[in-house]
Amino acid sequence: MSDYIDILNYIDGELQPAQSQQWLDNIEPATGHVYSRLPDSDASDIDAAYRAAKAAFPLWKNTSIDERARLLNAIADRIDAWQDALAEAESIDNGKPVSLACSVDIPRASHNFRFFAHAITQWASESHSMGATGFNYTLRDPIGVVGCISPWNLPLYLFSWKIAPALAAGNCVVAKPSEVTPMTAFLLANICREVGLPRGVLNIVHGLGAKAGNAIVSHPGIKAISFTGGTKTGEHIARTAAPMFKKLSLELGGKNPTVVFADCDVDKTLNEVLRASFANQGQICLCGSRIYIERPIYEKFKAALVEQASQLIVGDPQEKATQQGALVSKAHMDKVLSYIALAKQEGGKLLTGGEALQLDGRCKDGYFIKPTVFENLDIGCRTNQEEIFGPVITLTPFDDEQQAIAYANGTGYGLAASVWTENLSRAHRVAAELEFGIVWINCWLLRDLRTPFGGVKQSGVGREGGVEALRFFTEAKNVCVRLS
Ligand code: NAD
Repeated sequence: MSDYIDILNYIDGELQPAQSQQWLDNIEPATGHVYSRLPDSDASDIDAAYRAAKAAFPLWKNTSIDERARLLNAIADRIDAWQDALAEAESIDNGKPVSLACSVDIPRASHNFRFFAHAITQWASESHSMGATGFNYTLRDPIGVVGCISPWNLPLYLFSWKIAPALAAGNCVVAKPSEVTPMTAFLLANICREVGLPRGVLNIVHGLGAKAGNAIVSHPGIKAISFTGGTKTGEHIARTAAPMFKKLSLELGGKNPTVVFADCDVDKTLNEVLRASFANQGQICLCGSRIYIERPIYEKFKAALVEQASQLIVGDPQEKATQQGALVSKAHMDKVLSYIALAKQEGGKLLTGGEALQLDGRCKDGYFIKPTVFENLDIGCRTNQEEIFGPVITLTPFDDEQQAIAYANGTGYGLAASVWTENLSRAHRVAAELEFGIVWINCWLLRDLRTPFGGVKQSGVGREGGVEALRFFTEAKNVCVRLS
């Protein structure tokens, strides 16, 4: 993976540069060096991808479910066969530890294809009898050409999370990965060619959000958009798509609470809270960044968490022992550092970290930040309200269940919360009160792909996962027959 590589668009089954022949640099965040380039695509490339997808649609929608499932399984098999190379590519492109890419990102990407290959064969059709009077059955038609736009934090994992159900349901796809992490989407295009996915069924176009991404959202022929990314971008997409009445799924940002009760299993909780805080350098939309700890264990839990955070191995993402790699880009590192400065201005007491980390050797120009923990910040301050999306957490004590719930619910976001207690009644009582699309009890990031995934409030609209994704990528048509 060290050679300079040209990433190409995948349109109508062919790998090709942007029509304009313009390129964008692709930087390895661990070194700060350009190591490949990607097409700087524009509306003409998106239109070419759309036309290829539209032409492929009649064939793909009439392709048997078994054949669609066979092709998706073949893609999954190739991802598995290439697991190490894909994990290395993901790590180089994104800065995440290769061990994380190998254990989470790439296996979950292949699982996405395998899961939806199976799910589509098991999706029961709906029917409703009206007794002797009549009978209804509901057809679930693919929409046509759909757009999938994904972010940089879990590149292949989230890209495939959209593409797999869209294809399984019989749609043709125009997809754009993040311009910051295009590499594994390019490798996926190669895999699709190898397994013989019919041309035009999946088209992958690289480029900037404001140009290539916006062209997908604005294209009148692309009938639905499945988007994962920032809340501001989601708002822009919703506005652009509204006059065309496009179907939208928006998976947006979060400011997730971790609620630790005094009756939790402290050792297990510590390990998991550490992971939930700093996994992928805190760049997972589900990471818990506001940690609320019940007062009787506050000091003890704080001391242990700070100690463990300060001992996380921050280093070259390519090293197997590295626990925290590089942030994805210089711009993002600067944003996270500006939030650390803000937390200090807002009166936060820094307990560990709080600065960039300069490594030696090949990573000396990389984008590293020490795991950072603050306390003494108001619930309503910007540090506790805005998504930082980096290795920065705040600790706050609480006195009772009602206060914990109020603190947890006290932001504009509503993606995911976690609750830590050995008291099951309390766990379920609190879960019921939390205004989030996902609540974990004594776990974090435990995923069953059959379950609905998504947020409320500023964290998004709609749900992905299982049958929710298949519903999103189809139009229901009810057929009613009079029997007598
Ligand atoms: P982003 O919104 O900047 O970009 C996401 C994608 O949208 C990229 O492919 C980008 O090129 C594209 N894009 C940007 N502007 C666009 C526009 N005007 N029109 C169309 N497409 C456009 O987000 P990011 O920085 O890549 O990702 C980080 C964000 O994603 C965080 O806020 C994080 O919480 C969120 N996220 C949410 C989930 C979830 O499931 N809710 C999962 C992962 C990440």
